[in-house]
Amino acid sequence: MSPLRDRELVCARCQTRFLYTVAEQRQHAREGHSAPYVLCPGCRALQHLLRRRRGVVKWYDRRKGYGFAQDEQGGDVFIHVSEVRGKVPRRGQTVEYRLEETERGSAAKEVVVQG
Ligand SMILES: [Zn+2]
Repeated sequence: MSPLRDRELVCARCQTRFLYTVAEQRQHAREGHSAPYVLCPGCRALQHLLRRRRGVVKWYDRRKGYGFAQDEQGGDVFIHVSEVRGKVPRRGQTVEYRLEETERGSAAKEVVVQG
């Protein structure tokens, strides 16, 4: 495998060219992202600020370690055990999370069960 190096990418949202640094690549790899972010740092920060959202758990399989919530804006959001902070989500409960778009659809990050 070739060593990591800074890469120039084009932001998927604003089309700005930006440097995807080795530090960011390492951080995203630690967080388990399968593909590099395609948003520039500015859009990423904006997304982080804007995307703290709520949803209702449709189902969550404790043994498999994942499930889905219905986002307040209607779409399905994937919940993985590695993103659950504190209590395990259960069907019908409200969860708060940061919404992130991935190659495989919407995913909930830093999931917290409300109440
Ligand atoms: Zn951008």
